[in-house]
Amino acid sequence: MSESINSPGVEIPPELQGQVAITTLDRIYNWGRRSSIWPMMFGLACCAIEMICTAAGRYDFARFGMEIMRPSPRQTDLMIVSGTVTKKMIPTIVRLYNQMAEPRYVLAMGACASGGGPFKEGYNVVSGVDKYVPVDVYVPGCPPTPQALIHGLMTLQKKIDQQSIRQVPWYQKGESEPIPVPLLGPDIVDPRDFEKIREYNRKKLAELQAAGKEASQAAESEAAASGESA
Ligand code: SF4
Repeated sequence: MSESINSPGVEIPPELQGQVAITTLDRIYNWGRRSSIWPMMFGLACCAIEMICTAAGRYDFARFGMEIMRPSPRQTDLMIVSGTVTKKMIPTIVRLYNQMAEPRYVLAMGACASGGGPFKEGYNVVSGVDKYVPVDVYVPGCPPTPQALIHGLMTLQKKIDQQSIRQVPWYQKGESEPIPVPLLGPDIVDPRDFEKIREYNRKKLAELQAAGKEASQAAESEAAASGESA
C-alpha cells in the first residue's frame, strides 16, 4: 500500500515503517473505490466515440483502474452518459441506473447529456439526464475531448476521496428507493409528477364546473326574465 495513505499526524516507529500503514476506514475505503471504478459499456451518440477513444491505447483509462467496461449494470460503478438523451432512451437509462449496484456514480459527458446540447427543447430530446438520475460530474464540450473526459474522471475520484461511509446514502438504514421509470407515450411522463398532474386536473375540473354552473345560472335567469316580460 502506498505510504501516502497514512493518516497525517500518526507516527510510525522507524522499525515498522514500510511494513505498517495507519489510516482511517474512510480513507482506505475511498482509496479502494476510486482506484477501481468500472464504467458501464454503453454509448448514446457521437460523444461515445470520444469515450471509446479514451478507453483505447493512446489515452487508456485503464490507468485509473477502469480496466474493463462492464456490459452488465450489476457489475458497474459508473454510468458515463455519453451522448444525446432522447425521450425514447430515458426509460432504459433509468432502468439501467436502478440495476447498478451501489455505490454508483453518474458522469454526464458532453453538452447533450448535461443539458440537451444543440438539441435542447427538441421534441424528442431530454434537456439533461440530471432531470431523471443524479449526476456527480458534468463534462462540458460538444464533444468533450478524451482529455476532458479524463479530467472528469479525475474529478470524480476527488469527489470519492471526500466521501464518508457514515454519510453516503447507500450505507444508511433501510433500502434505497429506485427511481420511478419514466413512461413513454406521445410524450415522456415522469411518475414523480403524477401528484402534480392530478392536482392540475382537479383544479381544471373545478374551474370548468364553476364556469358551467355560472353559465346555467345565467341561462336560467335569462329565461326567467324573458318569461316575465311575456
Ligand atoms: S454533445 Fe455534441 S458530440 Fe456529444 S452527443 Fe451531443 S451533439 Fe454529439
